[in-house]
Amino acid sequence: MNAGPVPLVDLAAQHAEVAAEVAEGWEQVLARTAFVGGPAVAAFEAEYAAYSGVEHVVGVANGTDALELALRALGIGPGDECIVPANTFIATAEAVARAGAEIVLVDCEPGTALIDVDAALAAVTERTRAVLPVHLYGQVADVARLRAELPAEVRIVEDAAQSQGARRDGRRAGAIGDIAGTSFYPGKNLGAYGDAGAVLTSSAELADRVRLIGAHGSPRKYEHTVVGVNSRLDTLQAVVLSAKLRRLDAWNALRREAAARYDALLADLPVVTPTVTPGNEPVWHLYVIEVDRRAEVLAHLNANGVGAGIHYPTPVHLTEAFATLGKAGDFPVAEAMADRILSLPLYPQITAEQQAWVIEVLRSALSAG
Ligand SMILES: *Cc1c(COP(=O)(O)O)cnc(C)c1O
Repeated sequence: MNAGPVPLVDLAAQHAEVAAEVAEGWEQVLARTAFVGGPAVAAFEAEYAAYSGVEHVVGVANGTDALELALRALGIGPGDECIVPANTFIATAEAVARAGAEIVLVDCEPGTALIDVDAALAAVTERTRAVLPVHLYGQVADVARLRAELPAEVRIVEDAAQSQGARRDGRRAGAIGDIAGTSFYPGKNLGAYGDAGAVLTSSAELADRVRLIGAHGSPRKYEHTVVGVNSRLDTLQAVVLSAKLRRLDAWNALRREAAARYDALLADLPVVTPTVTPGNEPVWHLYVIEVDRRAEVLAHLNANGVGAGIHYPTPVHLTEAFATLGKAGDFPVAEAMADRILSLPLYPQITAEQQAWVIEVLRSALSAG
């Protein structure tokens, strides 16, 4: 049975569920012509803070800015070192570079692809100011163990871009470290209709600092106390995010059901299915398996209308941009995974028929070798 094509993500299906609410909210913004700031932004910030279990959320322009502003709010800059996993979306490294600090890469754990805590602890020097655990694919890294074993003065800046709603030991992603950055890029679990992001923290001082730096270093109009940037959450995006936040738990539950269905469908196939660590309640931003002959398998899937992808094909130190951070062989787990990982289509509205068909196509790809 052909239930394809199946895209990697289906944003139209999500929009259909919130279209009426978004239209109504946008109408109000247009009537007021207040496009930056205003009650819709403040409302979303308060709602997302309550949802996440932090005291403060500061909306910013995108997730990369969120991480950079979090680092700058902590006073991290030139001369400081920040520890980052080698297998992440490039933005985690960019944020550190933009803050002016030095990136120190570490490997990830096999299976989960989350930061290897032992490697992070071993990489700490006198100049280490922060560790940036990335809650990759929607599963929460071991922030509690980092906190317990890192020197007290080393800050934990969570990269929560892929983990909206995820929990570890009952605590939400973004609420476990000192401060977190998240992204509302359209394809994220909580996605806007353009770029958007936020910083989460329970420190009023850090939240104020992020707000100050992100608004031209200006505590009051035309008064500028520090050199800031312009990074704010658009009012129109805040309307979308509030509408979608009301559905986030339901959508994440559907993602969990879809992930369980894949687990079952893949049980007799020669692939490695995702590992979930005890205490983790992942939100399946991505469902990532490991396969042999990945290039052929991916090409076969794509040629047959299955929108599988790779997240991410190149570890940070093997990109041209960050080539100075290491050479091939330095982070063997991340490098080996990069050659084998394959993200299968997964979104809240994916149907059982679509998933069965994805696996049928995958089965034929695996036996074609
Ligand atoms: C999406 C993402 C970001 C950056 O978010 P943008 O909004 O695209 O700037 C950072 N880190 C990770 C892990 C991401 O997936």
